[in-house]
Amino acid sequence: MNQDKKCPSCGATMTFNPGFDSLVCRSCGHKEVIPELVSKVPVLEMDFLTAQNTASHDWGMEAKIVQCRSCGAETIQNKLQLSGRCPFCGSNTVDSFDAKGDVMAPMGIIPFKITENRALYIFKDWIKDRFLAPDKLAQNAQLNKFYGIYIPLFTFDCLTVNRYTARCQSDNKTWFKSGKYQFQVDDFPVVASKQLSGDKLLSSVVQDYWTREARPYTPDALAGFPCEHYSIGLKDAWNSCGKDMEFYLKNETEKHESGSEYMNALIATDYYDLKYKYLIVPVWINSFFYDGKLYTIVINGQTGKINGQWPKSFGTLARKAVELFF
Ligand SMILES: [Zn+2]
Ligand SMILES: [Zn+2]
Repeated sequence: MNQDKKCPSCGATMTFNPGFDSLVCRSCGHKEVIPELVSKVPVLEMDFLTAQNTASHDWGMEAKIVQCRSCGAETIQNKLQLSGRCPFCGSNTVDSFDAKGDVMAPMGIIPFKITENRALYIFKDWIKDRFLAPDKLAQNAQLNKFYGIYIPLFTFDCLTVNRYTARCQSDNKTWFKSGKYQFQVDDFPVVASKQLSGDKLLSSVVQDYWTREARPYTPDALAGFPCEHYSIGLKDAWNSCGKDMEFYLKNETEKHESGSEYMNALIATDYYDLKYKYLIVPVWINSFFYDGKLYTIVINGQTGKINGQWPKSFGTLARKAVELFF
């Protein structure tokens, strides 16, 4: 059973070191590479239909669920960790209880590559193009603090057979064409966080992972970082991605089946051999209240992609103020 990992040279608690696939001791600087993360072992796909019986529920640590009383977000944390602030809304009022046996454990993890300093730099660059009133900005002192958290992501693999009828166009001619295109879908991502998947801006950031870089799950990578408990279950995740999947398959079919002509296809798809992976993936997140409304900014902890909600009424000034503030 993994508990807080103690530094072998000074005894302080070690935390995960973004970008280095290792644990680091903040007191003496001792580093330890995490073997799972530097291995070349891929994360295995699991069969969707038998998921209930085969999914692992072992987090490799004594886990607790921490629920925010304000926004309802649930995170999974090491029992020994102090539960502080909710990363999604900044509230300090959280309840914690033991994780029951039915909480599926992740199969793979994409570790943090982006450090907190790098995240702040990315943020600073991003807000240059957004206008802020200096006094309002100063009131939001939380703006320069990002929280690192792992969020749940399901990916799906399946064989698809797409029957299509298409209207084709080229040089003022129009004709119809029909056929069948077989296509293997690989790692189609569905974010299992209601807090982040409901918003177009935020979900554009959290669907953008290189999932091939995922490594087998290890609790060591969570040292110092909470993990959001999936708020969308495996079956709901699959059921919810229909529209996006259809759009994706329509594009793939058109790309493959059209020659030089323009093609607009209607497709009907059969799915076979559905497999999934449950990954946890890193984000840096900042939430702040402005005029009573919650705003969230997220940075992809692997690629550095940033997006977020921003108050339109923040005023017309001023790049200078931003530079002063940081
Ligand atoms: Zn140490
Ligand atoms: Zn919250």
